[in-house]
Amino acid sequence: MNKMMVPLLTLLSAAVFLTGPGRTPAIAGDMNTVRIYSAESGTYADLPYIEKTAMEWKQALTAEQFHILREEGTERPFTGNLWDHHEEGVYRCAGCGTDLFSSSTKYDSGTGWPSFWQPVDPGNIREVEDNGFFIRRVEVQCARCGGHLGHVFRDGPKPTGLRYCINSASLVFARGAFQGSPMKTGG
Ligand code: FE
Repeated sequence: MNKMMVPLLTLLSAAVFLTGPGRTPAIAGDMNTVRIYSAESGTYADLPYIEKTAMEWKQALTAEQFHILREEGTERPFTGNLWDHHEEGVYRCAGCGTDLFSSSTKYDSGTGWPSFWQPVDPGNIREVEDNGFFIRRVEVQCARCGGHLGHVFRDGPKPTGLRYCINSASLVFARGAFQGSPMKTGG
C-alpha cells in the first residue's frame, strides 16, 4: 500500500461512517418534518417543512404578503383587514395554511395590528431573537414555512402576559375551523 492510500482509505471509511451505507430515509418525526397542530381536527401531524425559492413565493403570494412574509416587512397599523376582526375561527399562515392563532385568544391591543396572547400550539410557531434596529425583539415565524408573522412582546394580558403582534397580511382567516386547543385558553 503506498503512502497516499492510507489517509485516503481513512477518509473514505470516515465518510461511510458519517453518511452510512444504508441511511434510513426521511421518516415522520425526523429533522425534515415539523409537528403541527391542526385546530380543525384537534390532532397533530408530522409535516414536511415548506421550502420555496423567492420566485416561487412571489408567484404564490400577493405583493404585500410576499413583502411581509418573505422580506420581514411590517404593514402600517390600522391598515390591515384583520386587526378589527371579531369572528370566531382560526387565523392561518397566508403562506402555507398552518393554523396559528385562535379567535379565542385575540384581543384588542389598541396597536392597529391583530394581537393574540397565545398561539394555537407552541410548535406551530417559531420564536427567533431579532436584533435589528438596535432593539432586541423576538420575531415570530410560521414553524412550517418560516414566514415572518410579527413579534411577541411581554406586555400582553392575562393569563400569559404575552402579546403576539401579527401582521394581517401574514394571516388568512378561516371561520369556525376550530375544535379546541391543547393549550389552556381560559383566564
Ligand atoms: Fe407558513
